[in-house]
Amino acid sequence: MGKVTGFMEIERIEEGYKPVPERVKHYKEFVIGLDDKQAKDQSARCMDCGTPFCNNGCPVNNIIPDFNDLVYQGDWKNAIEVLHSTNNFPEFTGRICPAPCEAACVVNVNGDAVGIKSIEHAIIDKAWSEGWVTPQVPKHKTGKKVAVVGSGPAGMAAAQQLARVGHDVTLFEKNDRIGGLLRYGIPDFKMEKSHIDRRAKQLQAEGVTIRTGVMVGELPKDSKVTNWAVETITPEQLKKDFDAVLLTGGSEQSRDLPAPGRDLAGIHFAMEFLPQQNKVNAGDKLKDQLRADGKHVVVIGGGDTGSDCVGTSTRHGAAAVVQFEVMPMPPEQENKPLVWPYWPLKLRTSSSHDESAEKGLLKREFAISTKEFVGEKGHVTGVKTVRVEWKDGKMVEVAGTEETIKADLVLLAMGFVNPVSTVLDAFGVDKDARGNAKASTEDAGGYATNVAKVFAAGDMRRGQSLVVWAIREGRQAARAVDAFLMGVSDLPR
Ligand SMILES: Cc1cc2nc3c(=O)[nH]c(=O)nc-3n(C[C@H](O)[C@H](O)[C@H](O)COP(=O)(O)OP(=O)(O)OC[C@H]3O[C@@H](n4cnc5c(N)ncnc54)[C@H](O)[C@@H]3O)c2cc1C
Ligand code: SF4
Repeated sequence: MGKVTGFMEIERIEEGYKPVPERVKHYKEFVIGLDDKQAKDQSARCMDCGTPFCNNGCPVNNIIPDFNDLVYQGDWKNAIEVLHSTNNFPEFTGRICPAPCEAACVVNVNGDAVGIKSIEHAIIDKAWSEGWVTPQVPKHKTGKKVAVVGSGPAGMAAAQQLARVGHDVTLFEKNDRIGGLLRYGIPDFKMEKSHIDRRAKQLQAEGVTIRTGVMVGELPKDSKVTNWAVETITPEQLKKDFDAVLLTGGSEQSRDLPAPGRDLAGIHFAMEFLPQQNKVNAGDKLKDQLRADGKHVVVIGGGDTGSDCVGTSTRHGAAAVVQFEVMPMPPEQENKPLVWPYWPLKLRTSSSHDESAEKGLLKREFAISTKEFVGEKGHVTGVKTVRVEWKDGKMVEVAGTEETIKADLVLLAMGFVNPVSTVLDAFGVDKDARGNAKASTEDAGGYATNVAKVFAAGDMRRGQSLVVWAIREGRQAARAVDAFLMGVSDLPR
């Protein structure tokens, strides 16, 4: 343990942000990480509570007290060893994880949680800059071939784990670059894509064959899901060519809003809007990019994806942005004794909200429901809404509260319903009640589907979730696949 009285003497500090007027001019990251001294001080706030709930609150079970102590001692090299022992890609989570670990931190019971995510961020950024992150090439090859379908964080983590124990792994991706939603979805200003490229190089050096632009199975004809495939492979071919197949295709089917007027021009899924900006940032030329310049934007959906639409619209130069959330506004502060160590329901204001509000663009509306899209000459001009209340768990409209909110661009950011069903159907994989791939959890023996030698993990199995959960599932599914191929596995649970 670092400093016995650290949590009483040292205040939590947050990572810095570059000023709004500067950062909204570009799509680059703007978070200023902790320097060495700040990271040492912040790690000294870890109180060695004895039962580190943070470790359990973290989906990959990062060994947080240990790396805090190592940072306090200045032993950064061992700190990254500890961090990498549970998390393949801390530079992803250190940037975009919502940090459920911090909600579970014991200091958080009646004080400010240890800044675990910012310390994680500092450790991995230092490790990369010092050249400590190198490929771990296996000493022996097993001769077994594994196909991983889908290159999001689940697929990347699984591919890395499987390659490191000597399997020949091929990572298939229908898009033109790997990374899943980290690449096409999450804006560059939250996470620059060079972090994925660097890991892609590491994966290749460890023996993973990356095949982008390859669709396994087919998408429905009218699908709006991102797809830059130039080649198709059938599930039958894959099962013939590989000893095991792991499906990590994500949960890509966006939730629609089938209100009257939905077919008007100018109404799009967030996942049509955000990936286009990612592509432009990557230097690709797009014909007719979907843009928000000078427009009145309505974002329907109050979560992360909606907030990313707000941040991107602000950078485009929108005239105004209104974000709808159907649920009532949550409290600004949680009732800690009631909810600790769980993830609390409270008002979350992202950096995108802050910057859009500072520019005088943003209005956040809660307890509001969309009744109809209205338009002129085939293009949306407004959204008819009504205020709602929640009574006995049911949504009730409040009479006399209808209004029409001006809109030239409507972005639907209401989450994802399930994976694209045609892909699971083509493999013959059973689905659960929510339409996700039905595969046993780790407790029941491991991510196997009903189809022989076919496994599933990540959002494709658990439904729309978080990057850190995808990494966990990828790691655990890799262990299950390894045990299936070899009879036993040394990979961590
Ligand atoms: C806009 C947005 C913002 C988000 N922000 C955050 C955040 O801040 N923090 C956080 O923790 N989480 C965030 N999430 C959620 C997070 O990105 C996902 O939970 C996570 O990426 C899921 O990982 P995955 O590997 O299971 O699937 P995905 O990342 O969805 O990757 C699946 C990949 O499989 C490919 N694929 C699918 N089917 C096939 C096929 N048949 N053949 C070939 N390839 C295929 C897809 O093209 C895709 O690249 C966000 C999600 C969105 C949409
Ligand atoms: S991965 Fe997320 S939950 Fe785990 S320690 Fe890092 S910030 Fe916390």
